[in-house]
Amino acid sequence: DGFEICRYLKNDENTKDTPIIIMTAFDDEESIETAFNTGASDYIVKPIRKTEITARVNIQTKLVQTLKQLEEAAFTDGLTKLYNHRKIYEILEEEIRREKRYKAKLTIMMIDIDNFKRINDHYGHCVGDRVLEKISNTIKETIRDTDAAGRYGGEEFLIVFPGVGKIDAVTGAERIRKNIENFEFDNGMKTTISGGLAEYNNETILEFIDTADKKLYEAKRNGKNRVEV
Ligand code: GH3
Ligand code: MG
Ligand code: MG
Repeated sequence: DGFEICRYLKNDENTKDTPIIIMTAFDDEESIETAFNTGASDYIVKPIRKTEITARVNIQTKLVQTLKQLEEAAFTDGLTKLYNHRKIYEILEEEIRREKRYKAKLTIMMIDIDNFKRINDHYGHCVGDRVLEKISNTIKETIRDTDAAGRYGGEEFLIVFPGVGKIDAVTGAERIRKNIENFEFDNGMKTTISGGLAEYNNETILEFIDTADKKLYEAKRNGKNRVEV
């Protein structure tokens, strides 16, 4: 019956978020309660009126869209459209769990823009923001679909390379570094980044990030526009 179908759809990963409106001839309290308990979003008692169905379907559609927008906003950085700090941290936690379970390789890269203060001082904060956007887009376009990139801090980015060892990650990291180095802005300005790579080795998440951070600062000390592993 309708309740069974509802329960079935709510237990399926592919349909669990689809709102269900139960239409029925039963108008007793128990049936209504069963409908909502099995996961229905709404309940219409026959006879069916077209205007009522249309209105109720529209409400459910609007709810789903709004929820999706809210979820997206909650894990996206407004300026760069990359994952925000919280989300990239969550992704890394998840990948560490996966690494432990399947013994897959896992590498991260911490990126910091070189001499970014100078860009802000010379051209102003607005241009600085455009540089952040451009670098973020370059990162997004350069990494693979299975990798994840987030804005970790003001002008710092964290990239997660799941299933990738540090040697292979260097190839990806160098591609990002070169693509940024080769780009020239409208005003002739150029910019570079430094990166620190670390492969997961059973430490805590904070120690793991710290290792990548230390490598990043080594890259800065060694002259910037370079990647250290
Ligand atoms: P280094 O090469 O050593 O990294 O030098 P740096 O000048 O880049 O130094 P640092 O990494 O400490 O620079 C951080 C600067 O980034 C300071 C801050 O004003 C700027 N910044 C952080 N977030 C934003 C932002 O959202 N927009 C803009 N325009 N600037 C930002
Ligand atoms: Mg910095
Ligand atoms: Mg910097």
